[in-house]
Amino acid sequence: MAGQQKQRMSLVGGNPTVMPAMEVPNLLKSKKESVRTVRLRLLPTKQQDKRLRKIAGTCSKLWNQINYARRKMFFEEKRINIEETYKEFYERYKKLVGSVTTQQVLNKNNEAWNSFFKLLKLKKEGKLLPSIKKPTPPGYWKDKILGKRIRGIIIRSDRYYVEQVNNGEGYIILKDFSVKVKYVGRIKWSGRQGRLEIKYEFNRWFAYIPIEVGVMPSKNNPRGYVRGGCDIIQRKKPRGEEAAFIDMGLNNLFAVMTTCGDAILVKGGVVKSEYYWWKSEKRNAQSTRDSMRNDSLEVWRRFHRRYLRALFKSSERLRHLYRTAVRFLAKELHERSVKNVYLGYPYMITQDNGNEYNTNIWWFRKLTQWLHDVLKEYGIELLIVFEDNTSRECSICHVIHENARVHRGLYVCSVSGKKINADLNAATNIAYRVGYVVSVKKIESFVVTHNGVKPVTPLRRGIAQDPAVKPPPFRAGRGSYP
Ligand SMILES: [Zn+2]
Repeated sequence: MAGQQKQRMSLVGGNPTVMPAMEVPNLLKSKKESVRTVRLRLLPTKQQDKRLRKIAGTCSKLWNQINYARRKMFFEEKRINIEETYKEFYERYKKLVGSVTTQQVLNKNNEAWNSFFKLLKLKKEGKLLPSIKKPTPPGYWKDKILGKRIRGIIIRSDRYYVEQVNNGEGYIILKDFSVKVKYVGRIKWSGRQGRLEIKYEFNRWFAYIPIEVGVMPSKNNPRGYVRGGCDIIQRKKPRGEEAAFIDMGLNNLFAVMTTCGDAILVKGGVVKSEYYWWKSEKRNAQSTRDSMRNDSLEVWRRFHRRYLRALFKSSERLRHLYRTAVRFLAKELHERSVKNVYLGYPYMITQDNGNEYNTNIWWFRKLTQWLHDVLKEYGIELLIVFEDNTSRECSICHVIHENARVHRGLYVCSVSGKKINADLNAATNIAYRVGYVVSVKKIESFVVTHNGVKPVTPLRRGIAQDPAVKPPPFRAGRGSYP
């Protein structure tokens, strides 16, 4: 592979700006390479719901109290005493939710503080990417406006087990609380289960189970093995040695160039309209809510709830669209014999709108993470190319033409007069940055919808629609059908 890249580099000739691509940084990855987390919807009975609320309430209280103590220490003395605070709250809470669960919540808070300190250190050393938000100390488990605690329960890996009824449902048994709660959702992976997190997200309970794929449980916890679908992550091998270069955006979710000359545009039309629809929904609820501030608290709460619902729904629906797009792209790249994928990662994501900045950066990170995980299933490597200006630069002359980005997503080269799709122009630049010269032979366009990814280009292999079965035309006077 190295040889091939070298050969391509020499094609670039005097490109002085060739820079190395790097592995996906840990900050953008799931914690452990071999771990996949499954998310299951819990359907507790009324009684169980009450019980879960109570346990979660105590866990959240514990989290908030220790976090308050630690934040206070941090702001007053610039350092915190992890061990002492741990001991103090462990003693206080072990009788309330049991020692194991107390430990789990405290451990998670420890982890949160440790990663905050790690980020601070990176920042001090100047190693933190500008596109990553400035580190803030761990927050509280609560809704800032209603002041209610956000509910969460953390269960140690050997204090629960999963009992499957069939492929889509079963029970999760919480040993310490003798609760057997029903779940729905498909478990895609088999392997050793990790720490279970139960979260309450807008009137719904969800269980997050990390699974170390293909790993057997320890001897003292034989029930800690979740039997799902696959017990290996990589199920396919790359078919060839091609490379692909991706520019991610909102108009084109993915603009891809490959070394074989294929250009793929995965359009985010539905994503974009959903995004703006929910945005206005959120804004309406928010402004009604705020104008009710002086009316009754009940009315105000109702609109606040509507706002929270919009927040939840929008992220659920975007999540589904994005995941669909990622799966589709991984499969397409595999079919095109791609082995290495280079993803352009901006130093700075456009900050024209302060509010959207955080949302976009959050999705950008999420997408990178998902892409990395799904490509792994095909044995495809994802590499990051840190870049700036790839969308402003001309992929033909390699200079920045002013005002070259015109409406409808075109980039116009003022020297050659050529018009290029603006996002493919950016993807071509990403390739150039890492030493490849690519050019478009054909462009294929797709659009992500809630029913899958569909081709926009006519007459493409039938992913789009099922073959239509037409009845033979009835012709009058010619007798019956054959
Ligand atoms: Zn040009």
